[in-house]
Amino acid sequence: MKFFLLLGLFFVVVWLIRGGRRRGLPGAPAQAPVAPPGGDQAASESIVACLHCGLHLPQSEAISGAAGWFCGDAHRLAHDIAQPR
Ligand SMILES: [Zn+2]
Repeated sequence: MKFFLLLGLFFVVVWLIRGGRRRGLPGAPAQAPVAPPGGDQAASESIVACLHCGLHLPQSEAISGAAGWFCGDAHRLAHDIAQPR
């Protein structure tokens, strides 16, 4: 019984050493970063700040107002009321 425990421990150690070496290799296929489709578009999307509260959010989720970008319609209206033209 003790022999099987030592054998199992041996295989676990070998498995860990091989896994560690594979992780250490630069450019190993298992560790190559895979960019999700459309990832570049999301990374290059500009971030805008809400003129009313200063919240930063992606431009695609922001609401465009006459003065700039807002996080929502409520803040666009609040900004228009606070600073009427
Ligand atoms: Zn806001």
